[in-house]
Amino acid sequence: MAAAAKEERARIEAGRVLFAQECKFLLGVAREDQLPERTRPEIGFAGRSNVGKSSLLNALTGRKGLARVSGTPGVTRQLNFFDLAGRAYLVDLPGYGYARAGKREVAAWNALIRAYLHGRPNLRRLCLLIDMRRGVSDPDRAIMKLLDVAAQSYQLVLTKADKVPPHAVPAVIEALESEIAGRGACHPHVLTTSAETGAGIPELRAALAEVIDG
Ligand code: GDP
Repeated sequence: MAAAAKEERARIEAGRVLFAQECKFLLGVAREDQLPERTRPEIGFAGRSNVGKSSLLNALTGRKGLARVSGTPGVTRQLNFFDLAGRAYLVDLPGYGYARAGKREVAAWNALIRAYLHGRPNLRRLCLLIDMRRGVSDPDRAIMKLLDVAAQSYQLVLTKADKVPPHAVPAVIEALESEIAGRGACHPHVLTTSAETGAGIPELRAALAEVIDG
């Protein structure tokens, strides 16, 4: 037991050290031919518009203005690459499932994401963000299917945990675990976070450090 606690502390510390290093915007990619060389491990972040993706990226890196927290959902239409300490790229995928997005916009999103997901062996894990109050919705299921077909490793990361009363959390997690059971590319462990309170951020950093260094 003591050994396990020690190991967990070491994991958390490795995550803290990695994410305490410099993280800066590298480039925005709107077309496949603009994608950077596949020389670094990458961690992707995807989710519905307004899921709290920018807030989570800012909380992870401890940099308030890194990703823009937007009051207007559905405006980012490119993949944003951030260089983490020269060791990895964090890749912010454009939010999907925005109710007012036109057909052409949705098609462009799909084409760009498909182009990115195929032929990206250095994409070590994609964090699929789910708003804890909303749970998994159809647009999330569509991307999960895409990821399963592409055999792209991904993990569900719950956001806005502070908005859900603690007693309701186990039921939400249980529902998600049954949702992902049998999905081959999905990591079985669901992570719970709040950018507002910082809950779960050290654990997410630890999980990602492991993936980057592994
Ligand atoms: P994005 O569109 O996915 O990048 O989402 P944003 O990061 O712009 O956040 C959307 C809205 O949710 C903003 O009003 C944020 O302040 C709010 N938000 C994001 N994360 C949290 C959180 O952990 N807790 C709470 N209470 N609100 C959050």
